[in-house]
Amino acid sequence: MIGIIGGSGVYEITSKADNVEKKIVNTDYGDVEVSILDIFSKKVAFIPRHASGHSIPPHKINFRANIDALKNVGVTQIIATNSVGSMNLEMPPGSFVIPDDFLDFSENRDKTFYEDKVVHIDVTQPYCPHLRDILDKSGDVILGGTYVCTQGPRFETPAEIKMFKMLGGDLVGMTGLPEVTLAREREMCYNSICIVSNYASGISENELTIDEVFEMVDALQKDLLELIYNFIKNAEDKDCSCHHALDGAEV
Ligand SMILES: [Zn+2]
Repeated sequence: MIGIIGGSGVYEITSKADNVEKKIVNTDYGDVEVSILDIFSKKVAFIPRHASGHSIPPHKINFRANIDALKNVGVTQIIATNSVGSMNLEMPPGSFVIPDDFLDFSENRDKTFYEDKVVHIDVTQPYCPHLRDILDKSGDVILGGTYVCTQGPRFETPAEIKMFKMLGGDLVGMTGLPEVTLAREREMCYNSICIVSNYASGISENELTIDEVFEMVDALQKDLLELIYNFIKNAEDKDCSCHHALDGAEV
């Protein structure tokens, strides 16, 4: 089954769905409402990351519950959407970027399922290359880029952006981590469509507003849904190294 985690501005993907069933999935970390849809005769599970109505801020998202809920309904491949600011002039607002690495500056989040057990997951390829190839075939995307995750909820200062850029960052957002690594701990393929809504502070001449982010995500909604639907159409169940991420990780 394919799992979709919708970020800001992406609260449903029902327009091409034949069947929509909402169910509450119990996990060890809390209950999550998941929509189960039939799209192009494939089963798709959808979760809006910030819950319905965009009510949960980035630092309060229950990432472990979301990932386990998808795992529990049988998801093996996850595509997430993340709205981001760009620090790279080759990734302008309006583009979709498929990242291939990250820098994690988030704090005080529950970052692992293995609190009481020694498990060191390999993240040489944190974003699934198999899903990246399918996304590449499914629409106009920029391949590769380093995602920097900040704690938020405030935006970044120009000095922080300058530092992230020096460290190799291309995109900056608040919700990419620990989602990607939790999915890996659960041996699911995971990749992200990063929606560039604006240039990061200091790169853009303007002050950042959340309205600007939502406006851009709204303007890109049609293209984004087309990319997601094409992905679902092109997706194939395939054994992937992500499904064996725990081999050799446990002490
Ligand atoms: Zn994979």
